[in-house]
Amino acid sequence: MLLVANWKAYVADLSKARTLLTVGNRIARTSGVALVLAPPAPLLGALALKQSRVAFAAQDVSAVTGGAATGEVTAAAYHTAGAEYAIVGHSERRAAGDTGPIIAEKVAHALANGLRPVLCVGEASRDEQGRYLVAVREQITTALLPLTHKERRQVIIAYEPRWAIGKHADQAISSSDLAEMVLYIRKVLAELLPGKSSQGMLVLYGGAVEPENIRTLAAGAGVDGFLVGHASVDAITFAALVKNLS
Ligand code: PEP
Repeated sequence: MLLVANWKAYVADLSKARTLLTVGNRIARTSGVALVLAPPAPLLGALALKQSRVAFAAQDVSAVTGGAATGEVTAAAYHTAGAEYAIVGHSERRAAGDTGPIIAEKVAHALANGLRPVLCVGEASRDEQGRYLVAVREQITTALLPLTHKERRQVIIAYEPRWAIGKHADQAISSSDLAEMVLYIRKVLAELLPGKSSQGMLVLYGGAVEPENIRTLAAGAGVDGFLVGHASVDAITFAALVKNLS
């Protein structure tokens, strides 16, 4: 199982970041769960300087690759700082203006600079006509179609319904609804790759994952892991989360 901890802007303090890294290193050693921490960029730079048992992810990468672009952090800069993954297409970035084509560019830049993209997809709300399925399909195909088959296989899909993000476990998706969506996503991936070559692709779930529901969601839904926000930035909750997953 893979667990990506999206610290968002919750953590700004270096000593708190170091505590979370220490907890991450300890549980990565004992749990069998592969951990990826996604701190804010300057903290990533500070934490990834040392050898550790966890990997690091950018929370986003710039759509530009360099040049006169003040304030942008390129995929290449993240790679230099020690990141191995990049979250791209998070709903909070989509809400801030990232369109499908921009996200596709970011995915391509991440891959070109040695970062494995974690592509976030998910509907804002559900409707009885199943339009939310079309929205998820579109988000995946827009990002993956410009890539080669080899590149497509590198992309990790994180299904994150926007209506569940930031909520508590009792408002998360049900295990059966998640299982249905994971099957659907695997079908979309299979259409984008020849033969059975999409089968090894990783599909994660994110949105209201807490120690209370992670085990149930992991057991019945066919996911390869989780992308976790608020529950990953408190050391005790984070440790409980990983313990319950392992
Ligand atoms: C997220 O925003 O990526 C996320 C999963 O958030 P939360 O766990 O807080 O719902």
